Formats: sequence, structure tokens, C-alpha cells
Amino acid sequence: MNRTEVCIVGAGPAGTTVSHFLSKKKIPHVLLDKSVFPRDKICGDGVTVDVMNTLKRISPGFLEEFIEECDMLPCWGFCFRDVNGKELRYDFKDAGFPYAPIFTSRRMEMDNFLVGKLNPEYCQFMPETLVEGISRTPDDVTITYRNKEGESSVQAKMVIGAEGEKPVVTRYLGLDHYRERKHLLGAIRVYYKNVKGFNSGNHLEFFFDKNIMPGYFWAFPLNNNEANVGVGMLSSSIAARKFNLKAAFFEMIEQHPLLSEMFSEAEALEKPKGWGLPSITPQRIIAGERYALVGDAAGMIDPFNGKGIGPGMVSARICSEHIEEALLTKNYQMMPYQEHMYRYYNTEIKVGYTLQKSLRYPWALNSAISVLNLPAIKRWSQNKVVNAWKGWM
Ligand SMILES: Cc1cc2nc3c(=O)[nH]c(=O)nc-3n(C[C@H](O)[C@H](O)[C@H](O)COP(=O)(O)OP(=O)(O)OC[C@H]3O[C@@H](n4cnc5c(N)ncnc54)[C@H](O)[C@@H]3O)c2cc1C
Repeated sequence: MNRTEVCIVGAGPAGTTVSHFLSKKKIPHVLLDKSVFPRDKICGDGVTVDVMNTLKRISPGFLEEFIEECDMLPCWGFCFRDVNGKELRYDFKDAGFPYAPIFTSRRMEMDNFLVGKLNPEYCQFMPETLVEGISRTPDDVTITYRNKEGESSVQAKMVIGAEGEKPVVTRYLGLDHYRERKHLLGAIRVYYKNVKGFNSGNHLEFFFDKNIMPGYFWAFPLNNNEANVGVGMLSSSIAARKFNLKAAFFEMIEQHPLLSEMFSEAEALEKPKGWGLPSITPQRIIAGERYALVGDAAGMIDPFNGKGIGPGMVSARICSEHIEEALLTKNYQMMPYQEHMYRYYNTEIKVGYTLQKSLRYPWALNSAISVLNLPAIKRWSQNKVVNAWKGWM
């Protein structure tokens, strides 16, 4: 039996971020992951300013190392296209940012970077280790795992669930895990090469279409002339319409006037792969006695745009502060962390679900895109984004 202060389940961006902050605080911990690294994670590979902010908080040089080592592509803007093909494009090349506000990085590389930088002085990292059981007593938590050496366990003062979308920690603790379809998105991803027509600033391209609403199609440029392409939709609509996301994905590529041109010489590098995105809602309990959830395990995903890496890492940073407090005070009730998170993302939750609703009505989305294209409103909204992002940089 291995004894430690904290045991983290899952070494994606959320789990490794908890680990990096615990190491900074000199708190010994064990980090378990079932995968062999480097490992893929189905994702759009869009890396946002909140990720960069979290990396800088871990250590000032961390962001530079990340940009250098992860083969990232700097992206200077994004474009939404309404159901009639009308564009709303935001270009931030001249916004005075110290670095690109968005990057794309294959998760294979990004997650491997975060794992490669774990601090062995405080973090005992155990890859290829599957968590198979968790039990709680008033004094500790025991996490049972299996790996090449057989079955064993870790005894810790608390367990942090960073296992991603499919619940592990709550399931083994015998707790309910909120997983309603109205707060879940379904999405598929395909890596392509030779997609044409990306903007010279490597903008992220979003396409709305009546058939895939409430949802959208994306094409994000990657380096080496590759692209991350996918489609996502609200799970309750997928179920209600018995919707075939894969068929809709290929239909978009074949029938959408601009996409058919962009993909005329493109080659798929893999078959479509699907995964779920749990969106943030205060209805989800994410903490309790001797446990807390971070990242996708806690549903830290923006309900409108599907962004989850940044919020997952932010939840991990905030969780590490509550872990430190719990260890200091010997009060292992982690509810204050849950309250902190839902307070922190209060505005994003309201705005995110309002925007998500607009995706149900093509006319509402078309009107919004037309209004946002009016020069004065475009300048105002661009400035709002620039100021918000500068705050993160
Ligand atoms: C199609 C798609 C597109 C997306 N696009 C974007 C995007 O462009 N930008 C963005 O910010 N977000 C995006 N997201 C969301 C983003 O991928 C997630 O929010 C993010 O991966 C969450 O990270 P995490 O660390 O919480 O979980 P994960 O990255 O899923 O990591 C969980 C880890 O836990 C491990 N694990 C699971 N079970 C066990 C077990 N029993 N024992 C041990 N280990 C275990 C897994 O091996 C894994 O390594 C997208 C999601 C999808 C599905």
C-alpha cells in the first residue's frame, strides 16, 4: 500500500494541472492514468487564452516552453458562417497581443508535454494504471488500481477525479453523477490533410447549418498542412432526432458550397471518432467529503463553443488551492471548491446557455450574425473580446 496526501485519477490537462500546482505547493501526491503516453484525446485541439494563463501561473517560463515544444500553430482569429454562408470574422492580428490568442496543438503532443513536465519530487506518476475501486472512511480514501505489476492501492487524505467524461471517482464512491443529455454535447473528430482555403492568420472556421443545429461544424488548421475537423451537437437533440452525426459530417463536406471546395483535395487521416462533452451546470455535484472533481469529470465545458481544456485547467488550479486549505485545516469537506467554481463561471454559464439556445433557431443566429457585422457593433464586440483576452494574457 502506497501512502500519500492526495491521489489524482487521470492525467489529462485537468489532472496534470492539479499535479503541477500541488508540486508548487510542495504537496506529495500520486497521479494515476490508465493510458500509455503519448496518448490521443478526441478534441478540436483549440488552445485558448485561459490555458496560456494557467501555464504562466504554474511557472513564468512554462508558456514559452509549451509554445516551443508542442508544435503549435498560432491562430489570429476565428470566423462564424451562418446558415446562408454569411461570415462574421474576427481578426486579432493588430490587436496588440503579445502572442497569438489561440493556438492549435494536437492533444497527443499537448498532453504529453504536461505529463513530461511533472515534478518527480512531489508527484509519483503511474501511467498504464487503471483505477478499479475507491473506498472512503472518515480518516482516508483508498484507491485500488491494476497495472503490469498486478493489483495494489494508494491510501490518501483525498482523491481528485480528473478522469474525463466517463465517471470513475463518483461511480466507485457510490455517488450519483449528473449526466443529463441536456447538459451533454456529442461530437466527432477527423484529422485531415490538404484542406484548402484557410485564412493566412490560421483562423478557426465554424459553420452553422440547419441540419446540424443546435450544433456546428468546425475546421481548425494545424501545422504540417493538416486540419482538425468535426461536428458537434446537443445530445438531447441527437437522441430526439435519432440523428446520425457521422452521416451529417460527410454530407456537410460534400454539399456545403464552401466546404466542398475546401475539401476537394483533402484526405481523411482517420475514421470519425466520437466523444461526449459535459457542459457546466450547477446541477452537477463536483465535491464532497475527501473528494473533488476537475475538468470534464466536473463538466467544465462551455455549453456554446465546447471549450473545455482551459476551464478544466482553471478548475484544477482553483481546486489545488482548496486542497491546500483542506490539508492545512484538516477539514476535508471540499464543497467550498464547488461553490467557488460555480461563482467563478456564473456569467459564462448564463451567456453560454443563452447562446446555445440561439443555435436552435437559424433565424436568430442569422440575425445575430448580421447585427454583429454592423461596423460599430463589430468594433465594439471585437474590443470586448480583446479586453477580455488581454486580461488573461
Ligand atoms: C470532439 C471534441 C472537440 C473538442 N474541442 C475542444 C477544443 O477545441 N478546445 C477545448 O478547449 N476543448 C475542446 N474539447 C473539450 C476537451 O477535449 C476536454 O474538455 C478536455 O480534454 C478535458 O480534459 P480532462 O483532463 O478533464 O480529461 P481528459 O483529457 O479526458 O483526461 C482524462 C484522463 O483520465 C484517464 N482515465 C480515465 N479513466 C481512468 C481510470 N479508470 N483509471 C485511470 N485513468 C483513467 C484517461 O486515460 C485520460 O488520460 C473537445 C471535446 C471533444 C469531445
